[in-house]
Amino acid sequence: MPDWLHATVRQRCPACNEGRLFERGLSMRESCPNCGLNLVGENGAQYGGAVSLSYGAGGIAALLTLLVWLRIGELPRWTVWVVLAVAVVTVIGSFRYSKSFWTWLLYRSGELDHGAVDR
Ligand SMILES: [Zn+2]
Repeated sequence: MPDWLHATVRQRCPACNEGRLFERGLSMRESCPNCGLNLVGENGAQYGGAVSLSYGAGGIAALLTLLVWLRIGELPRWTVWVVLAVAVVTVIGSFRYSKSFWTWLLYRSGELDHGAVDR
């Protein structure tokens, strides 16, 4: 399994591949519990990209749902609610994965290091 996929799917620290990035819910740890990698960055790392990825995934999922539906037949009046639900569920469901992937990207591009919250 490639490095980035491993870090994304298992939601682990990109430096040691061991420490879990999330404690519970959607809030991420400030540093890796295993190797101490600073996950917030020295001046606050830019996680806006992770949010964009999730919204992008939600948009694509909603669009695909609509396209499949259009091929099947008529759209009932409650179509918008189902498409909206698909979008919302996808955004929330993909959030941890987007953030894990983004953390890996930040680490690989040198944005995160062991400096600030070192053991
Ligand atoms: Zn680590």
